[in-house]
Amino acid sequence: AEAEQRYVSANPGSAKLNQGARATMPGGNTRTTLHYGPFPLAVRSAKGSKVTDVDGHSYVDFINEHTAGVFGHSEPVIQAALKQAIDDGLTLGAPNIYEHDLAAAIIARFPSMARLRFCNSGTEANLLALATARAVSGKPNALIFGGAYHGSLLYYSHGPSPLNMPIPVIESVYNDTDRAVADIAANAATLAAVILEPMQGGAGAIPGTPEFLKALRDACTKHGVLLVFDEVMTSRLGPGGLQGKHGITPDLTTLGKYVGGGMTIGAFGGRGDIMDRFDPTRPDSFPHGGTFNNNVLAMSAGLAGFTKVLTPAALDRMNGLGDSLRDRANALAAKHGLPLQATGTGSIFGLHFHTGPIRNSHDLDAGEKGREHDVAALKKLYQLDMFARGLYVTRRILGNLSLVTSQADVDLFIEALDEFLTSRGTLI
Ligand code: PLP
Repeated sequence: AEAEQRYVSANPGSAKLNQGARATMPGGNTRTTLHYGPFPLAVRSAKGSKVTDVDGHSYVDFINEHTAGVFGHSEPVIQAALKQAIDDGLTLGAPNIYEHDLAAAIIARFPSMARLRFCNSGTEANLLALATARAVSGKPNALIFGGAYHGSLLYYSHGPSPLNMPIPVIESVYNDTDRAVADIAANAATLAAVILEPMQGGAGAIPGTPEFLKALRDACTKHGVLLVFDEVMTSRLGPGGLQGKHGITPDLTTLGKYVGGGMTIGAFGGRGDIMDRFDPTRPDSFPHGGTFNNNVLAMSAGLAGFTKVLTPAALDRMNGLGDSLRDRANALAAKHGLPLQATGTGSIFGLHFHTGPIRNSHDLDAGEKGREHDVAALKKLYQLDMFARGLYVTRRILGNLSLVTSQADVDLFIEALDEFLTSRGTLI
């Protein structure tokens, strides 16, 4: 209560904005992800690794637009590309000078994609990938893994969201190789695709084991089922995404988030024989429109970002810094003797308040069982305490670094976490 009172008094501008927005948007919100009580911080501007809220507080950003903000804020090369594109004119109603180059830059990093198509969001990319798999295979079903977030219309946390598209799904268990392989074999006749993130992101930063991912690849090949990797979040975890790190070639891949340099984007691509069904010159081609599929802001910003900023060396540095953050967080848990563990890979991390194994969402539920309310209260306290120390973090305790997150930023995060564990350790 005291931490919340302090938050309310410190943020009158954010409170006022949220109050006003409640008249026009349900709960004052248009992105559920950005909601937390009593009201979320409203951000006015951002530069480098910092955001500034409407009440003038500056924070080191560990939300980074939920992994879409990989470049850091107001990245100058991308801003210059955007300004040029604006000067040259928007909504051109034609193929433009950027789209092929962006596609080529992506394909060069992700050789599993012989060809790709752009769309407007990660959600759309996943819907299109599943629709494509259904259309080419003539089979209706998709196999998904519990806890998965593949977008606002493809959400499977504690059962399917009521808003999900009516694609029939078989739900399997992440990192349970025997179960997943058996599910694929048993359903092969009706299964168009298996879709998964090679590390479950929103579900809690849970890496897929190499054996699990490889077994899925083998089972899909054996049973004639398409393997779809949703790398909307994980593609930043290595120059060729997690598929590159694991040496696994999915049939289809979906991308989004940072690929548009901060502008709205999605992309899906994969095997040439599948993607070429979108060739409009073919008599049997799949029609796929989309007014903004090739919008010049996303294409030009994405191209500049991908080719000039997101170098393999820059990605490796960022992901290495993320690995060190995770190691240091786990060392703090040991130092304080507290049931806390950091999960994730590279620049994406999750913090969880228990020490049991975390292989999937069932393990997360089991680890918090019987104390869900306490854990929720603890996560809220964590966020409010970190805000008070100048760190912009999520209440779900999923965080990520950007290319401009510095060693000093990480040091600050670890110091603040240390202080949090010192002052609130008894509650854990
Ligand atoms: N897939 C994954 C793994 C995601 O993390 C997200 C977004 O958080 C999406 C899909 C949906 O992307 P978008 O928000 O662009 O629709």
